[in-house]
Amino acid sequence: MPRYIFVTGGVVSSLGKGVSAASLGALLQSRGYSVHVRKFDPYLNVDPGTMSPLQHGEVYVTNDGFETDLDLGYYERFLGVKLSRNDSVSGGRIYWDVLNAERRGDYLGATVQMIPHVTNKIKEYIGRPTDTDFVICEIGGTVGDIEGTIFLESIRQFANDIGRKNVMFVHLTLAPYLEQSGELKTKPTQMSVRRLLENGIQADMLFVRSPRMLTNDERAKIGMFCNLPATNVITSMDVDNIYKIPLVYEEQKVFDIMAMHFGLPAIAGDMSKIKRIEKYLTDDLPICTIGVVGKYFDVPDAYKSLNEALFHAGIQNNVHVKVKKINAENFNPDDCADVDGILVPGGFGSRGVDGKIAAAGFARTHNIPFMGICLGMQVAVIDFMRNVVGIADADSTEFSKNCTPVINIMSNCDTGDMGGTLRLGAYPCDIKSGTLAERVYGAKQISERHRHRYEVDIKYKDEMEKHGMIISGLSPDGKLPEMVEIPSHKFFIAGQFHPEFQSNPFTGHPMFNAFVAAAANK
Ligand code: GLN
Repeated sequence: MPRYIFVTGGVVSSLGKGVSAASLGALLQSRGYSVHVRKFDPYLNVDPGTMSPLQHGEVYVTNDGFETDLDLGYYERFLGVKLSRNDSVSGGRIYWDVLNAERRGDYLGATVQMIPHVTNKIKEYIGRPTDTDFVICEIGGTVGDIEGTIFLESIRQFANDIGRKNVMFVHLTLAPYLEQSGELKTKPTQMSVRRLLENGIQADMLFVRSPRMLTNDERAKIGMFCNLPATNVITSMDVDNIYKIPLVYEEQKVFDIMAMHFGLPAIAGDMSKIKRIEKYLTDDLPICTIGVVGKYFDVPDAYKSLNEALFHAGIQNNVHVKVKKINAENFNPDDCADVDGILVPGGFGSRGVDGKIAAAGFARTHNIPFMGICLGMQVAVIDFMRNVVGIADADSTEFSKNCTPVINIMSNCDTGDMGGTLRLGAYPCDIKSGTLAERVYGAKQISERHRHRYEVDIKYKDEMEKHGMIISGLSPDGKLPEMVEIPSHKFFIAGQFHPEFQSNPFTGHPMFNAFVAAAANK
């Protein structure tokens, strides 16, 4: 049976619970333990797929095609784990399950109640088998939120069910700094821990977010009020890069605290993978500028995984990648004067699409390294069909009804006027021999994640290839173009999928690594 670590947060939201939880996982992994991660969000949306990216940043997609918030991306990147729809569970989904069971008569006429029916359902998700040594569960929201209370009750019961010594409660709080008196205030932390205790949960370790290290006196004071040893009061220092956080915790012997709690040997860990990133951050390296031609720049974190993947590719290539945000809605070729590579990311709707088509065309005609992602591949094909093949009205039916539909909804998807359902999650892609795609991936078949509705119509394959744009990746049934490239170009590659979802800081991702390498050599 795995051991469980529950991570809750108090005082304010956005303290970085996800990053803290992932860092605990990194410390465990560095000692050879396997970990799995789950996120519970008390809100009532049934899944995050319908939540506005304007509020929540990018929609992240798991291998099994579940649309989640971007925290799951942190976990996959940091820990190399593969998460699924069972690892991102909202309050809405719990109630949905319970009410459906009630309608089916599963409860045999019993009165359906928060305890035990809702709590049992939450515990069932928490306890789904993982075959790992540890399961880290992040409970979203802030202690004291009305909808979160039932989750706290459930984790309290869960600890009681499996034995308290198999469970560790970690609580993240904030110690505000008062400039005038030069003091770090501990009262909000005390109140938050007390709030947790009202739900029957004694925190075993505190992560106190603070602009400077807590003094030993401050740790002792918090420990005294919060009923735990001063050693277990850890400073969660503000750092300029999230990858430094595991090291901040390592220095404060957080693993030893976990080991002590669970009765494990306090062995040393191998943190070299993360230390390499720390060193890279301060290394004096050449700068490689990538122009990202997009339209969601005003939304924080809209391109989270993409920016991460470019950062990772910089680590692999020993360059610092600078992202130049180029607004597709008023694209001007002059914007590309100082870039080393052009990337057109995914997107939905016609706003800004002309600029994206122009950007793909500019990269093509100026021999500038180009990478297209999802919509980025579609616009590269549209530009090529219009300006090289000579079909002036080539377009996607997403943007025009009266066009030559080189991009269209294909029969694998439900049809409907507004388009069918999205193709979501991981799909295999066969790679053609002798192509750039093959050199980039070093593989004959790959698997990448999708989130789109439209496809390049395979019937234009011969026409495209005759003119010099080849389809280098195809769905195994040969029906859906998954990758295109222009062999006569220095580096021009695009995929119908989102490779950014599978990048990680330790190896990067083949496509991003090769793109940044090409841009750095420009
Ligand atoms: N809007 C395009 C489609 O639905 C591309 C989507 C995307 O880039 N993720 O096919």
